[in-house]
Amino acid sequence: MTNQVQPIFILPEGTLRNTGKSAQKANIAAAKAVAETVRTTLGPKGMDKMLVDSMGDVVISNDGVTILDEMEIEHPAAKMMVEIAKVQEDEVGDGTTTAVVLAGELLKQAEFLIDKDVHPAVIAKGYKMAAEKAQLLLQGICRKVDVKDRTTLLNIARTAMTGKNVELAREKLAEIAVDAVLKVLETNSSNILSVDSDNIKIEKKEGGGIDDSELINGIVIDKEKVHSDMPKITRDAKIALLDCALEIKETETDAKIQVDDPRQLQAFLDAEQKMLKDMAEKISASGANVIFTQKGIDDLVQHYLAKKGIYAARRVKKSDIEALAKATGAKIIANLDDIKQTDLGFAGLVEERKLHKESMTFVQHCKNPKAVSILLRGGTEHVVAEAERAMTDAVGDVSAAISVGKCVAGGGACEVELAKLLRAYAETLSGREQLAVQAFAEALDIIPRTLAENAGIDPIDAMTELKAKHDQGEIYAGLDVFTGKAVDMAVKGIIEPLKIKTQAIQSASETAIMLLRIDDVISAAKLDKSGAGRMPNMPPGDDY
Ligand code: ADP
Ligand code: MG
Repeated sequence: MTNQVQPIFILPEGTLRNTGKSAQKANIAAAKAVAETVRTTLGPKGMDKMLVDSMGDVVISNDGVTILDEMEIEHPAAKMMVEIAKVQEDEVGDGTTTAVVLAGELLKQAEFLIDKDVHPAVIAKGYKMAAEKAQLLLQGICRKVDVKDRTTLLNIARTAMTGKNVELAREKLAEIAVDAVLKVLETNSSNILSVDSDNIKIEKKEGGGIDDSELINGIVIDKEKVHSDMPKITRDAKIALLDCALEIKETETDAKIQVDDPRQLQAFLDAEQKMLKDMAEKISASGANVIFTQKGIDDLVQHYLAKKGIYAARRVKKSDIEALAKATGAKIIANLDDIKQTDLGFAGLVEERKLHKESMTFVQHCKNPKAVSILLRGGTEHVVAEAERAMTDAVGDVSAAISVGKCVAGGGACEVELAKLLRAYAETLSGREQLAVQAFAEALDIIPRTLAENAGIDPIDAMTELKAKHDQGEIYAGLDVFTGKAVDMAVKGIIEPLKIKTQAIQSASETAIMLLRIDDVISAAKLDKSGAGRMPNMPPGDDY
């Protein structure tokens, strides 16, 4: 009897499997490809990318997270790189390219070690040690940021916007970013400053020039008044914010009302009209002369409100209503019967203004607004869109600098210094982890090197000069991409919040470590749209 060994299938048919070194190589290659894509955009001299989606819509950007988001990346390892950019965007609002480029370089350096037969688990351990040490070392090379030090805050905003397509109006936009953050600054009970970026609403409208952008001491809403007879301008506005409809609700079930007498019908209609009129009366009686509601407003109510000279906008987004509440001090009213004078908010001026063929409502001259709007203008849709991304970076950086209270020198200064300190730390280690810590330090050099490359400066010369200066104790020496010289970045005012670096190092190292620890990629068979890959017992037909 022959004993034939049957192959054992533990995975369904069509499953793809990639194991060992080949899996690692594939993951690293995909991650590096992502980093390589955004690398050319890093820094003030970075190039832009033009992305065209399947509908033909165009986005032109220099912003790491925007580019990666638009690229619709599919590879699982590459997707993890996109995650890095997203986390960076959510946590800081800037430094997305830095974080992705760093992760790519960490993996590239790891690959060299793998080729030298260092086990990925050892590299992962060394990277973890290096990342933890880096966080400590960063605390030693940063500077304090005082919220009253406007020059520093402006420098941080300027640095964030350098190289974005807003150069011409950079000064003005930097002022706007700093003022906006200072307006919404909050202090908690233990005197810690914080900024909730949701309280800074960035509104964009094409038309005009970037120079026409402004900080509104209040909120701009992309809505117009509901009735043409309402006033365009209301001074000393008493504002009611409603979360209730100014309409008569349709019954949910099909109710029938039987009338035998035409007078009954008239009475019914009269009653309805009275209810609607009462709504307008209640608003007017509260003393409100401006209302914003999240829901709808019946034509008749609009008419009564207009007759009373009350300004009204409807279907206002929830986030806008919340911002209005913070800006004007109004309470959001859920039931019209509860409306009281004390619930009303205040604004010195509510005005409907026409910008680029569309009307918007400006609620401004608020007394002490805890939420503000930044209105960005610019020649075309693309210009305002990139201005918005630059502004998000600037607002994020200024907020991060204030809430953490620390900043570091830009132009690669921080990375070169950190690499130097990490190399010294590596010397204190024995075993193969030492190699991994050295590789980590090596990876940090990618930032100044890329800044040089993108500016057309010889990266070897630039790195040699930078390292020499740091060896002489010039810890703020960074690359001036406009002259190619290594200069003191603190003096030049090229500074960034510490949080950009701590967050970038954390997510880049965590992702690199996670990818290094993978030695097996098992991918389920793709669902086939044509139905060929259907489970046998499923009827052909609708796709799920
Ligand atoms: P990210 O998406 O990572 O923020 P950026 O394109 O904004 O990428 O580039 C940020 C890098 O550019 C940082 O390393 C910063 O220090 C550097 N940088 C910004 N302004 C200057 C400047 N004037 N000179 C040199 N480097 C600068
Ligand atoms: Mg940036």
